[in-house]
Amino acid sequence: MKILVPVKRVIDYNIKVCIKKDGSDVDLNNTKMSINPFDEIAIEEAMRLKEAGIATEVIAMSCGTLASTDVLRTALALGADRSILVELEHNPEPLAVAKLIKVVCDKEQATLIICGKQAIDDDSNQTGQMVAALLGWSQATFASEVKIDGDSALVTREVDGGLETLKVLLPAVITTDLRLNEPRYATLPNIMKAKRKPLDTFSAADLGVDVSPRLTLLKVLEPTKRTAGVMLENVDALIGKLKTEAKVI
Ligand code: AMP
Repeated sequence: MKILVPVKRVIDYNIKVCIKKDGSDVDLNNTKMSINPFDEIAIEEAMRLKEAGIATEVIAMSCGTLASTDVLRTALALGADRSILVELEHNPEPLAVAKLIKVVCDKEQATLIICGKQAIDDDSNQTGQMVAALLGWSQATFASEVKIDGDSALVTREVDGGLETLKVLLPAVITTDLRLNEPRYATLPNIMKAKRKPLDTFSAADLGVDVSPRLTLLKVLEPTKRTAGVMLENVDALIGKLKTEAKVI
């Protein structure tokens, strides 16, 4: 069984996001970028399935500018066998990514796609679901446990009321939640080895996919700053303020 893991290059989760002065977009200049944390979890899950003898090959793919090569190298250092870059001039929208993943999946004859539940830059949470729809495959989103059982996958999901376990027929798309696993660290020897692992590059035209944007970003604003709190003497003072200033009672 081949597993395809789409990985996205996003602003590192430790970094405070800055907005361009003209409010036209997020400022990516001199900003540390990393593999999307949910995609690191996806690679780890794929690796565990390979180590358990269930998967035969793990292929990482990314759609973006040439800079996305770095997240593919990370995926390779974490154990992926090879990687595919779909090189684009701009960051694609989820529908375009889903179409590209579908074409790569058809080419590679993968049986399982494990992707993140969401990319932490746009928080779209759309790609996995769209890929499943385009392929006509089963989908199990927000996985916190995955077990392969013959021609099916048993996927546990954390839902409001507790834990839900779905049995989905393979081929399938699974999206990862935070508690699915704890990704391993890439060791130095594996980082070195990753440099020699295959990285194939295609353009969107090679794959016959139209990636032109369908959405227009109008404006990006900082969240409004919270004003500083005030210490009050006692409960009566608080009630007075709630009546006279906040006018909530
Ligand atoms: P999203 O729907 O944008 O929140 O992303 C959900 C998941 O889709 C991510 O965690 C990745 O696994 C995958 N994905 C999104 N964008 C890309 C991209 N440009 N390249 C590769 N995979 C992506």
